[in-house]
Amino acid sequence: MDREQIINLLRECDSEKLKELYTRADEIRKQNVGDAVHLRGLIEISNICTRGCLYCNLHAGNKKIHRYRLEMQDVIESVNRAKIHGYKTIVLQAGEDRSADPAWITDIIKAIKSVDDFAVTLSLGEWEEDVYRMWKNAGADRCLLRFETSDEELFRKIHPGSKTHRLEMLDVIMSLGYEVGSGVMVGLPGQSFDTLADDLLMFKKLGLHMIGAGPYIAEPNTPLGQNPEKFMLDEDNQVPPTEEMAYKVYAITRILCPETNIPATTAVATLNPERGYENALACGANVIMPNISPARFREYYSLYPKKVCISETEKFHDKIKSRIVAAGRTVAAGRGDSVSFCHQINREVKYV
Ligand code: SAH
Repeated sequence: MDREQIINLLRECDSEKLKELYTRADEIRKQNVGDAVHLRGLIEISNICTRGCLYCNLHAGNKKIHRYRLEMQDVIESVNRAKIHGYKTIVLQAGEDRSADPAWITDIIKAIKSVDDFAVTLSLGEWEEDVYRMWKNAGADRCLLRFETSDEELFRKIHPGSKTHRLEMLDVIMSLGYEVGSGVMVGLPGQSFDTLADDLLMFKKLGLHMIGAGPYIAEPNTPLGQNPEKFMLDEDNQVPPTEEMAYKVYAITRILCPETNIPATTAVATLNPERGYENALACGANVIMPNISPARFREYYSLYPKKVCISETEKFHDKIKSRIVAAGRTVAAGRGDSVSFCHQINREVKYV
């Protein structure tokens, strides 16, 4: 699929043609990564952030949110619940908490590994190579770092003061032996159809093992949420932040990167709590990341309004499994290492 074909698909409005696209992606998903849906337990370990990303509610300038950092006992309590629910991967996510000693994370990784044979995924922002090496040596398996947009100028505008480029960091993280994920927001003000096509081609070029994309959701407490018109392109070029656009991105991603793991994201479920996960699973996705953070902290990790997992109860963990089965899929029993990563390191591939 070349750039022009991708742009045409992103601009496609005909429902029959889109159905064809989703069916093709679904078939490719089935052939390459099977029917199993991998569940990852997500723990939001800190909402403290020293960065000023224009789109994110956790940005340092937001004085309206109560800031927290989880104690070890809270993390372990969440990990124990993940074990009860049968999750085999723990994802640690946080704002870029530069006031924390990276050794704090090292201790958490080791503690998780001592509970059970979990895969540990880090989603903690931009850190130095030495820090990522230390965390890898402590047992971390995977790393998620979205590059958000491949448009250099837009990247700089929405990440003021950013000295590093996330694209380069991804190479470094990959060279450390992590299974690596990245992704973008869909419909970010300033994102054109051409840019989004370049983002999709970048997924392939980087050889990512996991690719997460969710619709941009405007947050009124952020500079971008307050002044979108400063960034928005004309109507013909600006990508809309819709559910459908996210599904197109999932489907094209699956076609371009057949063996990668693709989550049905919380952002898409936020736009459509009833069917968002199912729709995403039907057009290429094969992963869901249920939130297992302690309930009393979840409201403080509100990246954007109405984030769906904030109001979820413990019942969600059973419900999501029946929803997966009702969608004609199976709940994976294994760790769900990415097929593309297994091929890269000559490890036996397990779909279930
Ligand atoms: N500090 C970490 C984790 C950030 S939160 C990091 O920087 O990598 C994880 C992802 O949430 C971000 O990468 C971004 O793509 C997404 N996100 C943040 N604000 C959002 C918004 N307003 N709408 C949709 N997605 C958002």
